[in-house]
Amino acid sequence: MNSNADRSSPPEVLVFVGGTAILPDRLLADAVVICRDGWIESIGQSQPIPEASQVVDLGGNYLSPGFVDLHVHGGDGADFMDGDEEAVRTAATAHLRGGTTTLLPTSTTGSPQRIHRMIDACESISRESSEQFTATSPQDRSAVLPHVPGIHLYGPFFADGKTGCHDRDARRDPEPDEYRSYFDRDFVRVATCAAELPGAESFYRLAAAHECLITCGHSNSSWTEMQAAFDAGMRHVDHFWCAMSSVPSLRARFQVPMQASMTEFVLMNEEMSTEVIADGCHLAPELLEFAYRMKGPERLCLVTDANRAYGMPPGEYVFGHRESGCHFFSDANVGWTLDRTSLASSVQGMHHMVSHFAKVTSATLPDVIRMASLTPAQRVGIDAQTGSLTAGKRADLLVLDAGLQIQQIYVQGRQV
Ligand SMILES: [Zn+2]
Repeated sequence: MNSNADRSSPPEVLVFVGGTAILPDRLLADAVVICRDGWIESIGQSQPIPEASQVVDLGGNYLSPGFVDLHVHGGDGADFMDGDEEAVRTAATAHLRGGTTTLLPTSTTGSPQRIHRMIDACESISRESSEQFTATSPQDRSAVLPHVPGIHLYGPFFADGKTGCHDRDARRDPEPDEYRSYFDRDFVRVATCAAELPGAESFYRLAAAHECLITCGHSNSSWTEMQAAFDAGMRHVDHFWCAMSSVPSLRARFQVPMQASMTEFVLMNEEMSTEVIADGCHLAPELLEFAYRMKGPERLCLVTDANRAYGMPPGEYVFGHRESGCHFFSDANVGWTLDRTSLASSVQGMHHMVSHFAKVTSATLPDVIRMASLTPAQRVGIDAQTGSLTAGKRADLLVLDAGLQIQQIYVQGRQV
């Protein structure tokens, strides 16, 4: 049960009826979902409703678990790399509006000092989030925060030539003194490093010791380098097809015989997971369908990879820290490099990724929701607390209409 619950007040029982619950493996019609003190107590079809409950009639809508985003940079004008609490609060709250009830703020290229400041600010908001419903900090519904169980250490260990929209001059090889200082904070839950960089294996081994989801991204690595990375604990690849190697890109590096790339390694290895940016701008429908069919809902995550332009009008913005980051342009559908030749990450929330994926692929509704909730939670190792409608987990819930538009949002049983 919730150790943070205010024991002096009567138990708050919240019951959802009159709709369909989206479970990881099926839809449950006429569901009765009972939540107590912010935690899911039971899920069934014909269980008695406890006295003095607050009953929410779903009116035929869906009840979904809240979304979990393991790759997200910012929103509403703020980037997590801005490194102050106000920016973290702004960006996190922006994504709550898109149904994300748990997120892993994602760093990018920046000095060690900037990355430490980003971790400081995220830790502080994480603490605020986990204490927001306790008796000592009275609930203020206008200021509900999503859960922040840790950060995604994403930049700066990118391969030269694969930095994408990130500052090329600010990429660097992993040096133990630097990355140890991040892992020592015990707040890194996802760790990215390009597999071909000198020192990558030591980075992966330390990340594994800290029980991170270890990912290879912004990389031009070969099958052989991926195998070495896998042996050191790497299990995930950032934004599939974006800023990663392919057979032709490796031919440019190694000539012949042609070599298998990150793509083949992920598709052939059942233990590998990956993620897609399903905003409709990065990947065509057939690639989303292909990723779903090849990896399945237990190994494919939906991420937003959203930058600070999410929730903002079209215009020029900065990726990363507001003073030292890279400029890009948002047309309010997607980010572009200033010369408009490449994409520069997304400007959409998770609700958009979920409804687009459901619309253009053959994935079932439980599978689409699973890829935005339980699968990322499992990969990050937080699925005991959140990620599905399961008794014993936090009541992080969404009410979705038939078009999968968000009608209501609950964080730990509190409506936002
Ligand atoms: Zn990113």
